[in-house]
Amino acid sequence: MAQKQRSLFIISGPSGVGKTSVLREVIKQDENTDNQLTLSISYTTRPPRKGEIDGVNYFFVSVPKFEQMKSNGEFLESATVYGYQYGTGKQWIEKQLQKNDCDIILEIDVQGAIQIMQNQFDNCSIFIHPPSLETLKERLHSRQTDAKEVIQKRLEIAQQEIELSEQFDYWVTNDNYEKSILGIQAIICSYRLKNSHQ
Ligand code: 5GP
Repeated sequence: MAQKQRSLFIISGPSGVGKTSVLREVIKQDENTDNQLTLSISYTTRPPRKGEIDGVNYFFVSVPKFEQMKSNGEFLESATVYGYQYGTGKQWIEKQLQKNDCDIILEIDVQGAIQIMQNQFDNCSIFIHPPSLETLKERLHSRQTDAKEVIQKRLEIAQQEIELSEQFDYWVTNDNYEKSILGIQAIICSYRLKNSHQ
């Protein structure tokens, strides 16, 4: 009989591409599967935004605490994104991998994704593309969370990230919310089936 094996999924893509809302729906719709998707909670030095809760959205830590964790080797990957540090806690992932009932999903930036793709566990990586840089710019403006200069910086970084997207296993272009969800679900389903007979 096929043995159940946990899978590690990585979702990445430029800021404003819509990965958080697509991912939220994918996780919600995955709730009753055998290997329910569990989203990793990252550590960050960024201050919480309105409505964000420590231990739910992120573990919000000070710069010295983050540096200390980094030098203790407590991160699976870490990166500086828009001036703040972000990292995936190694201990949390290892604990989840010991459990037999969930798959892990990381929503992280491209630098961190590449670190994991290059030297960690088997994983399935998905890059979410914007339909165009122009659409991305419109989305970033409509969020009304960032100043003009910040949006400009995010667009420059987005361009660099798109160049690195070739290193990912799959691409999904988020030109339609429902279609993106279906695309990601199909990838997850196919990777799980592949994993189940290895
Ligand atoms: P935000 O501050 O807007 O929540 O996230 C900014 C960026 O940091 C997003 O691209 C997000 O995917 C990325 N990010 C969140 N957590 C991590 C992490 O643990 N590691 C890395 N490398 N990037 C992360």
